[in-house]
Amino acid sequence: MVDKLVCKVCGAEYEPHYHCGQPMNAKEGNLVCVNGDYERPLPLHHGKPMEPR
Ligand SMILES: [Zn+2]
Ligand SMILES: [Zn+2]
Repeated sequence: MVDKLVCKVCGAEYEPHYHCGQPMNAKEGNLVCVNGDYERPLPLHHGKPMEPR
């Protein structure tokens, strides 16, 4: 599960919010709730998706 995302360009860190009380999984460019009831694209930084650390 993802508790921190990092921008590969500048190293900025971002903590995605939790869903259902737990960190979400990263899957195919999306953050997905472990219960499968929510998903959204990975946030962008410098125009690129941030990556799980
Ligand atoms: Zn950046
Ligand atoms: Zn959820």
